[in-house]
Amino acid sequence: MIVSTENGLYCPAGDFYIDPWNPVRRAVITHAHGDHARPGNDHYLCVRSCEGILRYRMGDDVSVQTVEYGESIGMNEVRLSLHPAGHILGSAQVRLEHKGEVLVVSGDYKRQPEATCPPFEPLRCNTFLTESTFGLPIYKWAPDQIIFDQINSWWSKNKADGKASVLLAYSLGKAQRILMGIDARIGPIYTHGATEAINEIYRASGLKLPETSRVALTSKSTGFAGALVLAPPSVQNTAWMRRFGSQSVAFASGWMKVRGMRRRSAVDRGFALSDHADWPGLLGTIQETGAEQILITHGYSDTLARYLQEQGINASTVETQFQGESEAPAENDQSSEPEADR
Ligand SMILES: [Zn+2]
Ligand SMILES: [Zn+2]
Repeated sequence: MIVSTENGLYCPAGDFYIDPWNPVRRAVITHAHGDHARPGNDHYLCVRSCEGILRYRMGDDVSVQTVEYGESIGMNEVRLSLHPAGHILGSAQVRLEHKGEVLVVSGDYKRQPEATCPPFEPLRCNTFLTESTFGLPIYKWAPDQIIFDQINSWWSKNKADGKASVLLAYSLGKAQRILMGIDARIGPIYTHGATEAINEIYRASGLKLPETSRVALTSKSTGFAGALVLAPPSVQNTAWMRRFGSQSVAFASGWMKVRGMRRRSAVDRGFALSDHADWPGLLGTIQETGAEQILITHGYSDTLARYLQEQGINASTVETQFQGESEAPAENDQSSEPEADR
């Protein structure tokens, strides 16, 4: 039902691509991260809650058709529906049905429920195409509240020491999940323009994020001691960081689970908070689908495929250009990430 082509995953019976990396006529988009939603397609199809972010990133004039979660539509010979993936606002799994066969493309997903998007919906299918960004047994996430408590106490300690707390986090998804989880009473919260632009879209969708102020709009005399500053990883080691004076810098990412990654990222603190499934989450999800065939992409696909094969599961890898959370923080805060604080 789906084939890997030079433009990306293609469904011949439906004549559309899923998250294509080259411009095509019809693109079904699982979510608006830069490695999944790319510019230049003639028509986009996504879930309704994705539209605002997609238009912000692709341009207001693109042709976008939206559906509700669970709404089934015909695409030539195929029935298509989109279902919650629990990854970020507007993220979806793609369910395809053709001649009695069901195939699900997971997109990026995570299993812990959180405040910014509806939880992942397990779907039964014959074939399940899963991501594997964190497909190694070492990746097992702590409950969100433990991570948020760590962030709160790091922020409080910095405040007591008269420092600013600069927290690097992807501007789409991670930053808003952090805002919903932290204790906003600790101090004022400032944001980079790229983060604030996404905050506004989340707020427009009905999410009650705590109050934030754009760094670029503060007066010259503003002091940042005791404040939290949320910014994309691309600002690390740039002149933009200087205005905060005495500061502690932290990075929130699944990669922070690994000490070597923390050291290489050269930040003072790492918080292991990921928007992807961990190892138990991947295995549990694969089991829940009841699928007889597992296709794996996006990350440690070889390791996960080998592990599943050893369990007697029919698993193989599929090549894509999806990158997940890159190990080098600056590399992957989405291709369309504005570098300057506009
Ligand atoms: Zn993503
Ligand atoms: Zn991805």
